[in-house]
Amino acid sequence: MKILNREKMSAGICFVLLAFGALFLLGMSFPIRPPENINVLIMQASRPVELCSNEICAVKTQNGLLAFTIRAGSKFEVGIYKDDILINNKRYKGDYLTITSSGLIDVGERKLKGIIRLRKTVKDNKTFLLVINRLDIEDYIKGVVPNEVYPTWNIQALKAQAIASRSYAFYHVINNEGTPYDLSSVSQNYAGAGTETRETNSAVDATRGEILIYKGKPLCSFFSTVCGGCTEIPENVWVKFKDNFPKGVKCRHCRNAPDYKWQAVLSMSEIETKLRSAGFKLGTLKSIRPSKRSKYGKRITELTIVHSYGSLNVKINDFRMALGSKKVKSGLFKLKKRGKRVYFGGKGHGHGVGMCQYGALTLAKKGYNYKKILKYYYPGAKIEKNRI
Ligand SMILES: [Zn+2]
Repeated sequence: MKILNREKMSAGICFVLLAFGALFLLGMSFPIRPPENINVLIMQASRPVELCSNEICAVKTQNGLLAFTIRAGSKFEVGIYKDDILINNKRYKGDYLTITSSGLIDVGERKLKGIIRLRKTVKDNKTFLLVINRLDIEDYIKGVVPNEVYPTWNIQALKAQAIASRSYAFYHVINNEGTPYDLSSVSQNYAGAGTETRETNSAVDATRGEILIYKGKPLCSFFSTVCGGCTEIPENVWVKFKDNFPKGVKCRHCRNAPDYKWQAVLSMSEIETKLRSAGFKLGTLKSIRPSKRSKYGKRITELTIVHSYGSLNVKINDFRMALGSKKVKSGLFKLKKRGKRVYFGGKGHGHGVGMCQYGALTLAKKGYNYKKILKYYYPGAKIEKNRI
């Protein structure tokens, strides 16, 4: 019996090796399981944070050992003291602790599914506490969609958003393997299970596992609120983005959206102070001039800031973040200096890359289904299920 088993085993091994060899020679890739979980940074805290759960919480050390449990409904504080993680003033060595519960865990305003990982991190010689939520990707998407669009929106627009959000999540999970977290709760607006709605959950469930694939890879499917007439490619907004991304498209579908047109007025001294607090080194501000525009959308991609001892080239996203993205709502604007003030007049809200959310809503109302909407805003991308 034993010999027979060994023979069977070696025959089996030979078959597997031959099969793998054949696949290798044919240049085929092996199917890889799509990721199931995501690690979301909820906050980087320098002060104690209050947590609570409606069920018992188990606190486990880095080695997986149970440190202690916390009663259901009992509030507890987590923080950092010197180099140790603190829970209710008890100090723990090691890089991280894990909190599990069969119920939801409250972190600040958010009610979270999954587990919480408390991890130490050192930045500029200061130790901070990273509060990371690890949960199922589908549950994460359910906590994103109602915070990215309105749950009352047409179901096809909700489904398009679910797929864009899922692809964006997959991309980050795959590209951040081995790091403490995959993305932060503001990368896409994740506010937890407390914000889930029946409508948005059904859009997520109906598209379960579906993602956008572009040139053979999951697409980092950026999206923005109102494109203002034309969508943009990422490298015109962020310097670092180097992956493949579909070209920008014309969009006449967000014309009735709030913020399709916007205006802002800022004083020269206000702009100067804001740029300085964002880390730009400059003297007295003299002038601001758009120096580069995207070829297709004519969106400003870079500005030249002239000041008393030189000039700076500032990327549009850095400029908007420094001045306030709620003031300078997009990179599609004209500006005029009159006296000590700068008058901005622009179109759109957000960076303008990828799907225009209000445009998607209009298309859904016109009868486009979610596949057609995604095809429109991500030309060349395919929707595929359960693959990476
Ligand atoms: Zn648009």
